[in-house]
Amino acid sequence: MVYLDYSATTPVLPEVLDSYNKVTEEYFGNPNSLHSLGVKSNELLESAYTQIAELLGIKKNEFVITSGATEANNLALLGVANTYRRYGNRIVVSKMEHPSIYGICKHLEKMGFVIDYVDVTEEGVIDFDDLKRKVTKDTILVSICSVNSETGARQPLKTVRQVIRKNNENCILHSDMTQAIGKVNVSVQDVDLASMSGHKIYGPKGIGLLYKNKNLVLTPLMYGAHEGELHPGTPPLPLIVSFAKALRLAVKDIQKKDEAVRKYHEKIVAHLSQYKDVLINTSKYCVPHILNISLMGIKPETFIHALESDDIYVSSNTACSSGEPSKSVYNMYKDEDRSKTTIRISLSYLTLPSEVSAFLDSFDKNYARLSNLK
Ligand code: PMP
Repeated sequence: MVYLDYSATTPVLPEVLDSYNKVTEEYFGNPNSLHSLGVKSNELLESAYTQIAELLGIKKNEFVITSGATEANNLALLGVANTYRRYGNRIVVSKMEHPSIYGICKHLEKMGFVIDYVDVTEEGVIDFDDLKRKVTKDTILVSICSVNSETGARQPLKTVRQVIRKNNENCILHSDMTQAIGKVNVSVQDVDLASMSGHKIYGPKGIGLLYKNKNLVLTPLMYGAHEGELHPGTPPLPLIVSFAKALRLAVKDIQKKDEAVRKYHEKIVAHLSQYKDVLINTSKYCVPHILNISLMGIKPETFIHALESDDIYVSSNTACSSGEPSKSVYNMYKDEDRSKTTIRISLSYLTLPSEVSAFLDSFDKNYARLSNLK
């Protein structure tokens, strides 16, 4: 099998799975129980929280465990909207967000909020003139992803924050960092709220996190036994411990991992450039882990299944909007055909040179066959 869909989800690293299994077996006591089994679990929980906080350079009370990035995004946007609505009813998001952000925005519109969508340039970066126009005194929140899940375009969050603050110094900045963590050095302190997910960093599914600056007050999405808790219920200790381990491994040796992935990216781009109807949807701002291409005139699903028959796995755009045109590619190039024919190849430091070669061989074979049928 050649798996090149690491941005949809990653396999769980064996050492992370070991932690999950060990904690499930040996720490089954509820961390909230008063007896010794509970105390033992609670100690492990606290040490996992400490580790996560240290890795992110924040305090233990500055993050909330969630079931994944979708929940973290919900808690960020709805939590801010419900707490701060008396200061304004406008929220700004980019035209390069993950579908979960747009789903929440639709709901916010029903609640009476006005959503302003910021343009991106052909290089996939926020159009700062448009951002300046859209952030007003009534804007309570801006949400801009750190790395786009379809093209890998990276946003300069520090500059985004400066631009926002010039217009409205109270405006809160959220960033969906799901595709950034473990790929590039990002700092959650560049923003006020940041979402991430375990299954994108070789950890288990069903766990994620929202970083929350200590000065912010979020309205919870759910209510439980303890007042004020943002994620009530029994803490999923095996998930939390394995998330901490996955995060530690993900942020280790980023530079070395990046170099390996960059070589594969360059090799694939050089090879595919021979085809005039294969467009490479990338810019100097894109991380090398995600390579988005358009196969002009070929249906992406046909091509994906053709690769699959050679046991090679890629996706069309994001796994969450498969089958739809790519919003991100459309907003970069304003070309419908280009946005309807996208394939996303996502690479990892675990990718082998032989896998890249197998992908390119299968690509050539299938492209020759399917481009003749156009
Ligand atoms: N945001 C981004 C940028 C993503 O890539 C994803 C996963 N496709 C999500 C949010 C949703 O993450 P989760 O599956 O953890 O809910």
